[in-house]
Amino acid sequence: MHLLDSPLWLRLVPYAFLQYYKPEDRHRVEFHELPELLRQEALAFRVDCVRCGWSGVCPIRERPRDSDYDRRRAVTGPYYYAGTCPQVVKPGCSRSSAASADLDRMVEAVRGYQAGGNSTPPPTEPKLF
Ligand SMILES: [Zn+2]
Repeated sequence: MHLLDSPLWLRLVPYAFLQYYKPEDRHRVEFHELPELLRQEALAFRVDCVRCGWSGVCPIRERPRDSDYDRRRAVTGPYYYAGTCPQVVKPGCSRSSAASADLDRMVEAVRGYQAGGNSTPPPTEPKLF
């Protein structure tokens, strides 16, 4: 199943935003801080790689909190979308035309959501107790 076809997408899209990456000349789909329960669900979600079909792809990924984290956080979200195998697993997938087409589809989905008058800030995290 693709992320766009899952019920999870409708809950995630309020937190999505587009970030332009000049070296790649394209937008990427980033996410603001997610409420904890949604975060856990998103990070556990798995889809099939849009290129090779491997079923273990996590489409919502958390950026590693290394020494560059704060610098990158100035321009990116703490989470981002990727519909292919991680580069370290299969480098060909993330650089494929299938990956580009998939990202274009995701960018359009975010734009469509925001164009629908739904660009208000995401809801605050619900209190558990
Ligand atoms: Zn793959």
